[in-house]
Amino acid sequence: MSSEAEQTSEDRRKYEFRKVIEDLKQYEGSGTQLVTIYIPEDKQISSVVEHVTQEHSEASNIKSKQTRTAVQDALTSIKDRLRYYDTFPPERGIVIFSGAIDAGGGQTDMVTKVLESPPDPIQSFRYHCDSEFLTEPLEEMLLDKGLFGLIVLDRREANVGWLKGKRVEPVKSASSLVPGKQRKGGQSAQRFARLRLEAIDNFYQEVAEMANELMVPKRHELDGILVGGPSPTKDEFLDGDYLHHELQDHVIGKFDVSYTDESGLYDLVDAASDALADQEVMKDKKVMEEFFENLHTGDLATYGFEPTRRNLVMGSVDRLLISEDLRNDVCVYECPNDHEEYEVIDSRKSTPKHTCGECGEAAEFQEREDVIEYLMNIAEQRGTETKFISTDFEKGEQLMDAFGGVAGLLRYSTGI
Ligand SMILES: [Zn+2]
Repeated sequence: MSSEAEQTSEDRRKYEFRKVIEDLKQYEGSGTQLVTIYIPEDKQISSVVEHVTQEHSEASNIKSKQTRTAVQDALTSIKDRLRYYDTFPPERGIVIFSGAIDAGGGQTDMVTKVLESPPDPIQSFRYHCDSEFLTEPLEEMLLDKGLFGLIVLDRREANVGWLKGKRVEPVKSASSLVPGKQRKGGQSAQRFARLRLEAIDNFYQEVAEMANELMVPKRHELDGILVGGPSPTKDEFLDGDYLHHELQDHVIGKFDVSYTDESGLYDLVDAASDALADQEVMKDKKVMEEFFENLHTGDLATYGFEPTRRNLVMGSVDRLLISEDLRNDVCVYECPNDHEEYEVIDSRKSTPKHTCGECGEAAEFQEREDVIEYLMNIAEQRGTETKFISTDFEKGEQLMDAFGGVAGLLRYSTGI
């Protein structure tokens, strides 16, 4: 598979996860009876079964009969699902949600959902029983991910590492032999100052080497580099061009942090949160700017469901742009004269009747599908990349409000 195709199927997977999570978040149990289990890939299924069996027997102590039965039913259903797996869960782990949800009017519905191979590996085993399902760890995985290099330093020590999505990963550290500001007796002031500057220079070089070694091989995947430390250390370090020039170009900001040990890496991410948030929508912004430019000055842009669909089918769409807020279904109809017609409706509404736009005959309903999945299916077959655009900035909002949440950047003009 090409990396573009991999990217598309990853986006698709994320979209599918997002939809399931949206559903799960709406559910509520009338008591503490919704069970969520996060299972990392290296956890033996048999030990999970043991854990669930244990919880099942402990649940017999629950006072409310209704809650007790609900929890035990959920656990039984989870055990049933675990039978489908061999020794270990699939790659990156599984998450199981199970419980009796409030269906209104005093009724409950039993819901069990299994999500395999989430976008990120599950870090640790979690058993969670509450009136809501535990979806936050999965939601974090779905946030727009980035890879950022982190460097914190003062004249005494330095740490380098990664920010992967929301996770800080310390990698290497160094400490210096730079002498303090007080010279010892017998040393000339000049000589002391020179030695001290040399030691500082050496240390900056060492820090740069450490960062280069880690980050140069990843320079094409990097979304940016953050540098932190007290003044003037970080400024000296950056102004002195110690870093590999390609890394230097990736520096998106320098930030004041007081600690330069591992905890400094976390402080750096906190201090840079605004810059990181900007960076997150930066990619979306660029694509949308390209779209508007093409819309105003060229003919390599399309928007709205039907024109975009037709372009997609022709294979003329280079990038399909879909608003993250789009929640629509497409209904497909066919009239007696074989005209195929489409209607896009709110996902919560029922399927409308349709009159053929071409011949005016009553058209027969064929099928109904989530509009994003429908378009992504065609995109995948045509080698078109799909990009989800957030509504956290003006042009992203416009995609949703003014263009129906669907648009495309074209490879060539089609006049559609
Ligand atoms: Zn017709």
